[in-house]
Amino acid sequence: MARSISYITGSQLLSLKRRPNIAIIDVRDDERSYDGHIAGSLHYASGNFYDKISNLVQDVKGKDTLVFHCVLSQVRGPSCARKFANYLEEVKEDTGIKDILILERGFSGWESSGRPVCHCTSVPCKGETGSA
Ligand SMILES: [Zn+2]
Repeated sequence: MARSISYITGSQLLSLKRRPNIAIIDVRDDERSYDGHIAGSLHYASGNFYDKISNLVQDVKGKDTLVFHCVLSQVRGPSCARKFANYLEEVKEDTGIKDILILERGFSGWESSGRPVCHCTSVPCKGETGSA
């Protein structure tokens, strides 16, 4: 059963994001450290994405929706989402993941629409604390 990967807009993500069963995966490389990030997002750099993929599977246990993004979600985001979908198919493990999505326009679109950006330096990101 091939998994389809679809796109989600920033405003859809903003409303989905309140649910506990969603994980946002930032696959930017070094940009994350100086540009900020979406609160609560996990960081799996595209550069060594495949090496860490089993950690990511562990990290998203219990989530059923994964949203991938990079800066523009044109190259790295979609390619990592696809790698992840293929990986799930290969391992045939029941992860409970139902949807693999890509954030349209990536972090850049998210930020330029004035959506909340977190600048914490904690790994993993502690999320919404401190934001209004
Ligand atoms: Zn943060």
